[in-house]
Amino acid sequence: MTAQLDVVNPRTGAADYTITPLSAEQLADLAARMRAAQPVWAARTAEERGEILGRFAQAIRQHREPLVAALTADTGRAGISRTEADTIPHLLARWAGSAPAIIARSAVTGFQTSHPTIDTDLRLVPYSLVGVISPWNFPLILALIDAIPALMAGCAVLVKPSEVTPRFIRPLMDALGEVPELQDVLALVEGDGATGQALVPLVDYVAFTGSVPTGRKVGEAAARAFIPASLELGGKDPFIVLASADPQAAARTALRASVVNTGQACQSIERIYVARAIAAPFIEALVEEAAKVQLNFPDINRGDIGPFIFARQAEIVQGHIDQAVAAGARVLAGGTVETLGGGKYLRPTVIVDVTPDMAVMREESFGPVLPVVIFDTVDEAVAQANDSEFGLSGAVYAGSLDEAEAVGRRLDVGGVSLNDGSLTAIVWETEKSSFGLSGMGPSRMGDSGLLRFFRRQAIIRQRGTPLPLAAYGEGNGA
Ligand code: NDP
Repeated sequence: MTAQLDVVNPRTGAADYTITPLSAEQLADLAARMRAAQPVWAARTAEERGEILGRFAQAIRQHREPLVAALTADTGRAGISRTEADTIPHLLARWAGSAPAIIARSAVTGFQTSHPTIDTDLRLVPYSLVGVISPWNFPLILALIDAIPALMAGCAVLVKPSEVTPRFIRPLMDALGEVPELQDVLALVEGDGATGQALVPLVDYVAFTGSVPTGRKVGEAAARAFIPASLELGGKDPFIVLASADPQAAARTALRASVVNTGQACQSIERIYVARAIAAPFIEALVEEAAKVQLNFPDINRGDIGPFIFARQAEIVQGHIDQAVAAGARVLAGGTVETLGGGKYLRPTVIVDVTPDMAVMREESFGPVLPVVIFDTVDEAVAQANDSEFGLSGAVYAGSLDEAEAVGRRLDVGGVSLNDGSLTAIVWETEKSSFGLSGMGPSRMGDSGLLRFFRRQAIIRQRGTPLPLAAYGEGNGA
């Protein structure tokens, strides 16, 4: 774990950055120091923690330039890197503002039980040390999305971002350095899968975002360590277009929800089911919209989508496309990964004549690929949309919201967007579970995004006389 690791630049393909993971002993020492510091952090009021996180937001704004530069080098796209850097201060403000009231209404004092002389308090006791393990597709947001509510709960938080996109860690730690109160309760460490593996037994709760295979390993390691795990995993989100929909509007929406961030988002649309009555104009519009999408090459500040962040993902996506074509599918747009300046790019790829057994319909592609299936009945569309191991989210597009909702309620997924797609990426207030292999544990959205980081402690007061043993005697009730 101590050897240096090379980091590849997704625009050039060159290894131009290195990280040095902590040794197992250094990681354990850090965890112990953070655990020791946590009681002081937890003893502050939620309002005080919120005020401190407000100063962290301010520091992040001041360090925006190096942070955006690092994220841009990490991911090969500039616009979303700016959005990531600007989202964090909002996320900090949102939790700082909402957490005190959520905590106040969830903790209970002086509750009179059904026993006249016994009352209780329900206390929320934060986990001491929360571990966060995060992926490469939105490096900054996903490193902090769980860390911020955990901090607001009063936990210390140790984050291990992906080795694929670690450049943002140093400028973020520089910003953190300006907030002394956070020094010992928030840390981001460089490292790879081995560091993630070493982290799990050191913490009291693990919040993991990533793939199903790694999520399964983390879930198993958490079970062995006897700690809870929140697992936010992959998806294969369906998009159903009903006969009443405007085909052009539906195509524009499906395309956007599929290709944003080069399709490297858990809630990307990865399967499209369209009613036969409008299939022809819908597919025509989809191909037209796909052709309009520009790569951000050679100018990173122009265009719509960037390179694959992780070159291996380009190979996986190409494999899905090639396998589908070999089995009889037809590519109507895109279809071939291009190497430009050392980076791997794929234009939005529309595929028809796909069958449910193809990898492009079953496995997470994590690329800008839109396989389209034509259906005759709504029952058939719902059955096919639900024929997946995943259940992250999905969408229905129709002529009216009522019609879309009637179908959307039948989807086996945790979040349903109506007359839009991927709305879970921008709506934070409502809770949602991940169905199937898409995850486990409490919702990261809504109040439970915070409350999951507390254990519940019941303080139970006997104001009368404790019962004698005789009250439990064998002769009772005879
Ligand atoms: P991975 O599962 O490959 O990696 C996720 C994190 O786990 C990385 O930090 C990785 O480190 C680390 N890791 C690897 N092996 C282990 C191990 N044995 N024990 C502990 N940690 C380990 O995911 P990706 O980075 O490829 O991310 C893409 C995936 O994330 C997609 O499936 C996507 O759908 C999912 N995702 C889910 C979201 C959701 O909210 N549901 C949101 C965004 C993405 P390293 O990279 O250094 O090897």
